[in-house]
Amino acid sequence: MSFLSFIRHKFFKKKFVCPAAFSEAYIYPDGRVFLCPDCFMHPDSQIGDLNKNTFSEIWNSQKAQRFRRNVLKGKYNYCSPAACFSKSNYNYRLIPNKNIDYNIKQKSFPKMVSISPDCECNLNCVMCRPCISRLSKEELKICKEKIEQIYIPILKDAQTLTVSTTADPLVSRSTRFLVKTAAQKYPDLKFNLITNGTLCNKFNCDDIGITDRLSYVMVSIHSSNEITYNNVVKNGNFKRVKENILWLKSLKESGKIEGLYLAFVISTKNYTDIPAFINFAKENNAIALFWACRDWGGNLRNSDEPLEIWRPSHPKYKELKTVLKSIELETDYSHFNMQFHHIRNN
Ligand code: SF4
Ligand code: SF4
Repeated sequence: MSFLSFIRHKFFKKKFVCPAAFSEAYIYPDGRVFLCPDCFMHPDSQIGDLNKNTFSEIWNSQKAQRFRRNVLKGKYNYCSPAACFSKSNYNYRLIPNKNIDYNIKQKSFPKMVSISPDCECNLNCVMCRPCISRLSKEELKICKEKIEQIYIPILKDAQTLTVSTTADPLVSRSTRFLVKTAAQKYPDLKFNLITNGTLCNKFNCDDIGITDRLSYVMVSIHSSNEITYNNVVKNGNFKRVKENILWLKSLKESGKIEGLYLAFVISTKNYTDIPAFINFAKENNAIALFWACRDWGGNLRNSDEPLEIWRPSHPKYKELKTVLKSIELETDYSHFNMQFHHIRNN
């Protein structure tokens, strides 16, 4: 660590300095690269594009350095405060952040890499997409080439690989290939799964070689009961997901995974289930994570019942506020992103 960055670190560690900008990289199927999963909605937060530059160029690009400098100054101009989990709870990080290098220009590649090679998923949740997504044979071939040539080398200094923010990692054929290849090439690498839970069982995790190498698992289930689940998640299987969550719970209780999170994207379809979902998380020794539905391609606004209940202009906004006021948002088993604290408190 340089003298300058040592001083910066000493000075800034007294207050919150988000480690994401210095240790994490998020890669999307179209090649866009970000330093954080929560700031991708900000128009200037993208640090590069793998179709135009190498990862090495992107990781220390002018935009990446500008982002880190801004975070060190405590400004956070390129973040999306409404979406950010970290700033709403300083203790909340999904990975331990030891030995962060606070240099604006990084010597090593990121410690935590999130790669989403495609959008393949066996479900179509209402807030996400109108139909099930599957690659053609040709698209899959191109994707696998990209994984071997571009993505695998990016993991050279990584401690964890997170899959996937745009697909299901156990359904997506390219993501399974990425995980299997990475697990073989980097024996110390650990894995974070963001999954819909339908195929997240021992058989599939064994098949891609990661059952004993999981760090955290986040299951996006969005409801605590089958009726609400079927309103949100199309083509899912609530009973099977619950069984798989029980398996994950057993892994957590035997110390084989560090974290178990149950994700809940709040929309008109499920907001009344929020209190029950916190109990559901507690029963499963998990943490419920709540955030707002974002525009990922689902029909958020044009339907008869707009999903974005968190907008003040939404006819059911006050009902959401009443639900939020009836509960404690931050507990040992629940965490809400900042915009819900704002709705509750204002
Ligand atoms: S949006 Fe939040 S998590 Fe992302 S870089 Fe900014 S402070 Fe960190
Ligand atoms: S939200 Fe997740 S589980 Fe649902 S369709 Fe999108 S990628 Fe699949």
